[in-house]
Amino acid sequence: MPDITTPSGVKDILKQYDININRALGQNFLVDSNILEKVIDAACLESGDNVVEIGPGLGALTGALVDALPQGQVMAVEKDSRLCQVLQDLFQEEDNVEVICRDALEIDWAEELTSRSFKEEGYRVVANLPYYITSPIIRLFLEISPAPESLVFMVQKEVGERIAADPGSKDYGTLSIAVQYYAEPELIYQVPPTVFWPRPEVESVILRLNPGGNREERADNEKLFFQIVRALFQQRRKTIRNSLSRAAEIDLSRELVDRALERSGIDPRIRGEKLSWQEIVELSNIFNVLLAEVGD
Ligand code: SAM
Repeated sequence: MPDITTPSGVKDILKQYDININRALGQNFLVDSNILEKVIDAACLESGDNVVEIGPGLGALTGALVDALPQGQVMAVEKDSRLCQVLQDLFQEEDNVEVICRDALEIDWAEELTSRSFKEEGYRVVANLPYYITSPIIRLFLEISPAPESLVFMVQKEVGERIAADPGSKDYGTLSIAVQYYAEPELIYQVPPTVFWPRPEVESVILRLNPGGNREERADNEKLFFQIVRALFQQRRKTIRNSLSRAAEIDLSRELVDRALERSGIDPRIRGEKLSWQEIVELSNIFNVLLAEVGD
């Protein structure tokens, strides 16, 4: 087998199997063993861990995972059936890797995880993600039960920066809050396009998401919480008071907004983009109580 962590090895194997790259599936293969090592380090794996990998491609990351997990299991989900054939041949001798030839967005994950005992034993998610499914995959694994112990993804730099952005910064927005509500993000390492073949047009980052702590502080009414988040960022140049009293999805009178802001201690003249997700949880809990009182 050619060395799949080099551009020439990737080209050889594609030629051997008569495969043309499918750009629509985000097929940019990682061809740098240092970066592979960084992804594995970021995942903080123990030898008995179970890992879900989305988009194993030609198996560069899968191979590194198999080596790192002699007592664990790797469930590698690849949509492209031609690549699945390569993966099946490559890992036929390994009993700790299972190649699943499916679209990761169409899998009933709760059922798959339960049937593999990943539910009782726990699992992590590690992936060099095709960029076109980054948001749905992250969302899926943040909201799913059982939750993964950690998630390590290679993502487009700009998306990683938006996810990890602090309140008040230019990148901070609904994506930051939608992720930070479930998990603490950490940008681990910046990755240049040169470590992939073919080279993508964008830079990437290794992003780690730690679901642990953030799962304890829940909004009393999550639907209302996300409606408030969207209202705050729909018109991000407006003050909190104005954006909430003109929210498109919820009918909040100016009087109710003033009462909620007064009770929360938040200055009504600042912009929504200054609030952390925890402050928005507190604010939405206050609205939840006030709206119930108005409804009674
Ligand atoms: N993990 C490999 C690596 O690091 O070299 C390949 C990464 S490449 C960026 C993304 C991989 O995801 C491709 O192999 C592509 O075929 C696969 N893929 C794209 N869409 C997918 C989907 N919906 N479900 C599962 N795999 C998908």
